[in-house]
Amino acid sequence: MDARAAGVYDPRATQEGGMDYQRFFSEAIDQLHAERRYRVFADLERIAGEFPRAIWRSNGKAREITVWCSNDYLGMGQHPDVIAAMQEAAGRMGSGAGGTRNISGTNHPLVELEAELADLHGKEAALVFTSGFVSNEASISTIARLLPNCLVLSDELNHASMIEGVRRSGAEKKIFRHNDLEHLESLLKAADPDRAKLIVFESVYSMDGDIAPIAAIADLADRYNAMTYIDEVHAVGMYGARGGGITEREGLAHRMDVIEGTLAKAFGVIGGYITGSAAIIDAVRSYAPGFIFTTALPPAIAAAVTASIRHLKTSNLEREAQQRQAQRTKDVLRAAGLPVMPSETHIVPVLVGDPELCKKASDRLLEKHGIYIQPINYPTVPRGTERLRITPTPFHTDELIEGLKEALQETWEALGISFNEAGRPAAARTDRIIPLVVSKSGG
Ligand code: PLP
Repeated sequence: MDARAAGVYDPRATQEGGMDYQRFFSEAIDQLHAERRYRVFADLERIAGEFPRAIWRSNGKAREITVWCSNDYLGMGQHPDVIAAMQEAAGRMGSGAGGTRNISGTNHPLVELEAELADLHGKEAALVFTSGFVSNEASISTIARLLPNCLVLSDELNHASMIEGVRRSGAEKKIFRHNDLEHLESLLKAADPDRAKLIVFESVYSMDGDIAPIAAIADLADRYNAMTYIDEVHAVGMYGARGGGITEREGLAHRMDVIEGTLAKAFGVIGGYITGSAAIIDAVRSYAPGFIFTTALPPAIAAAVTASIRHLKTSNLEREAQQRQAQRTKDVLRAAGLPVMPSETHIVPVLVGDPELCKKASDRLLEKHGIYIQPINYPTVPRGTERLRITPTPFHTDELIEGLKEALQETWEALGISFNEAGRPAAARTDRIIPLVVSKSGG
């Protein structure tokens, strides 16, 4: 029977000589397999109150495992105040927001959340989006499009959401080498002094855990009259006395025109935002399609995030414990000869250097040791620097760290992955900086 007559539309059966759509998509996937970068996501169920434990489902079986790669960096996704705020708001106001803010107005918890965020970064105003990705894409594209003949200067390792924002703005862009002030200055110097310029960069780069020279970038911005836009997605909640990020820790928030962040990582919920002057925020609110034409975050989400931010403004316990356990993880793994890459932050990347081995290591850790660490391959990181990216939280105890070390050692030996320079503990040598050459697009 003809596929259409059977109610199933199969272009392969109906098209002769034209585009075979199904094959086109299958081949696109085949290509990813051939390049060894087809992604598989584990089926996980987090267990509130037992973070970082989760239930992993595979081949019809369910098993408890330990997650070592969550970006719920402080475990705030299961904090009792956050859960209670979400439940209370949902009970009182229902589940959804009811529409775009343009059509349905702003639910009150979102008004409170934006005030909290503006205060967190010491800015006049804030604007909340449905995700960090959307906040970057919508804000960068709108700011660079509104500025006449804008030149965007973008760090080569900026996140995919920032790259999308720059692309969509239609503005001319120049990419500066990662954290390279001389290169950035040479590009600023070469530009017409009267031309509008926007420098876009991150504070903490999430795959390597290094930090931008923010003060020096602000100096260059002052000298060449450029605007600054900083992504603090991997720093908000975790750095600074109130969780305002690296800019707060270094007393530099006032020198950034726009500070962008996520509500989904250290704050443990979902959403993204920008903060800045009232004029910039109002312009993005009024011109950005990615803000205007999409339904707002539900009130229960906004209330939960506000509870999380408020808690982290006054509590340092989570930040201190996270830093302590991240440092301990680095020390323990290095002492065992595992190739921990240099990182100034809470992120602990362990080098594998091969996509297939990286996937195999991840699979073995999960299946044999009940440890989940997602493999990080190209294009998220440059080829040859494939790695396991470990994110210790306050809830990863010393005992769990010991278990991780043993599991990694067993996996490294079983798969023949290189230990540090022939197994020598990293502590015995100076850290090597691994050069990075492509833009990342990971999360
Ligand atoms: N910016 C950076 C640097 C990121 O790593 C991510 C990853 O998720 C985002 C923005 C997007 O944030 P969100 O997950 O809230 O969409």
